[in-house]
Amino acid sequence: MRLWCLFKHDWSDWRRNPNPPCEKSRYCKREGCDKTKTVDDHDWGQWHYKSPASCLQHRKCGRCHKTETGVTLHEWENWRYVALDSCWQTRKCQRCGKRKKFEQPHNWGEWEFTIPHSCMQERLCQKCGEQQKRNKHIWGTWEQASPESCRVIRFCRRCEERDVGGFIHTWHDAPESKGTPDSLLECSKCGYFEDN
Ligand SMILES: [Zn+2]
Ligand SMILES: [Zn+2]
Ligand SMILES: [Zn+2]
Ligand SMILES: [Zn+2]
Ligand SMILES: [Zn+2]
Ligand SMILES: [Zn+2]
Repeated sequence: MRLWCLFKHDWSDWRRNPNPPCEKSRYCKREGCDKTKTVDDHDWGQWHYKSPASCLQHRKCGRCHKTETGVTLHEWENWRYVALDSCWQTRKCQRCGKRKKFEQPHNWGEWEFTIPHSCMQERLCQKCGEQQKRNKHIWGTWEQASPESCRVIRFCRRCEERDVGGFIHTWHDAPESKGTPDSLLECSKCGYFEDN
């Protein structure tokens, strides 16, 4: 290989090989460099459907008759609802018969309480009748669980469900630690303490 060929070969024109018929080659014209390059060179026809019932595209080489498969191109009908009272839509490919289904967003009615003294709510899709449920409590304010406890709880005003929260302590400096460098915080109500 010549020095110049490290950077760029001095390529000949492409020439089609006699066999196989759909290859072409070029070679470096510099003396002492035997570099050649061979690539496929088909005479591709237009992309077209492989058969009437298939949505696969293919094309064929006019010289060697090799075929190549391309993309799938469906001929979709318009979306339509599966039934009048359904939220599902479907469509069909007119060529190959493939179907697609898609669920449209439901047309939800309002949330409603359905059982007395229960916080269960229900809503219905006004088109297909699908049902959804949830719990919707109406919480009262946090209050102390008992006079000696700093734990807070709250109740649902509708179903009286109990929700247990955290602690709300009333901190003050512990008397024994007063005047020492390590102050100690103590709850004046329940006696719980913490190193500060
Ligand atoms: Zn070369
Ligand atoms: Zn070919
Ligand atoms: Zn199709
Ligand atoms: Zn629906
Ligand atoms: Zn409730
Ligand atoms: Zn406390």
